[in-house]
Amino acid sequence: MFSHDREQNCAKSALALMEDSGVAATPDNFELFYAYASGENPALMRVMAAFIHAKKEFSPEILADLRMRCLSGARAAQAIDAASGNIDALIENVLGKLESSARDTANYKDQLSAATGELVSERSPADLRKLMDGLISATRAMEHRAKSLEGELQASSQQVTELRTKLADVRKESLTDPLTNLANRKAFDEAARAAMAAVILEGEDATLLICDIDHFKKFNDTWGHQTGDQVLRLVSACLSENVKGRDTASRYGGEEFAVVLRGSGLEAATRVADQIRTAIETKKLVKKSTGDVLGTITISIGVAQFAPGEAIEAVIRRADACLYGAKNHGRNLVVNQSDPRMSALETSAA
Ligand code: GH3
Ligand code: MG
Ligand code: MG
Repeated sequence: MFSHDREQNCAKSALALMEDSGVAATPDNFELFYAYASGENPALMRVMAAFIHAKKEFSPEILADLRMRCLSGARAAQAIDAASGNIDALIENVLGKLESSARDTANYKDQLSAATGELVSERSPADLRKLMDGLISATRAMEHRAKSLEGELQASSQQVTELRTKLADVRKESLTDPLTNLANRKAFDEAARAAMAAVILEGEDATLLICDIDHFKKFNDTWGHQTGDQVLRLVSACLSENVKGRDTASRYGGEEFAVVLRGSGLEAATRVADQIRTAIETKKLVKKSTGDVLGTITISIGVAQFAPGEAIEAVIRRADACLYGAKNHGRNLVVNQSDPRMSALETSAA
């Protein structure tokens, strides 16, 4: 579940595995092995498990390639680096153009002042004609340069728009779980912080649901990991269908989901949680490729309300305790923080 223990265990297994595989304990390598140990990234798990099984060497090139292919954070970082390189070049280019345009304007101004000086002194019509011709051609040249600068700036502004779109895509990717397309853990953190800010500043209600698939290990053992992944997608779809507007449904860990509900108190949130629970239990699972009937799956949900100013971890702990209560009371259940079954649990734990 959401426990600190689980994170500790993942970190320990990641380090042990790095040592066994002769991999240097750098932060980049740790990120990779931690993702493997947490089991949250099926694509990475499959490739690395094959490597470990075949006792192949994790060379620096292989490690870099794995990071780039399997960790969305690494991909996002690379895309951001590329985009910032483009932005630097673009800014330099625009500044260069503006500087040369400023020089042209200064020259033109000099030409105008010189002409004003010549106009005050007495001149023959032929001299005046020459002066006028000179001014006309300088003005035309200036007009021409202004037009071409305008065109160049327009092209630059288009490039800026393209870069902006690219960066927005990268940001979206860095906040999305690739398997389920739901918000990821990072997006959950942002959503929880935003909800807490609204609770404190606007007195809004906000609640947290923590959902965990029941006996999912058994499901995977029976039907295989890939079919398990399909179930994760199905659960994600049920979550998305049952939340709306400013709510955020996220994949928090392997088979754990967290939903931040904005503007919902404990009662309303418990109703939403029960809708989700029912939607999942009533789905009949059939394996598309073989037509095998896989039966049904269920989830348990813990519900906690954000209290103004408390640490986000405290809301998570409360929702997690409720989830634990739901598991203890038979699973396929929703338990919220004021559920009498929770105090029974606390008393029995004391
Ligand atoms: P409980 O009802 O107590 O939650 O039982 P459980 O079997 O669901 O709980 P446990 O935490 O023991 O097992 C969670 C399982 O979830 C282990 C792992 O096989 C599976 N799992 C975690 N992440 C993924 C994933 O990305 N894909 C698949 N297919 N399975 C996953
Ligand atoms: Mg679990
Ligand atoms: Mg589970």
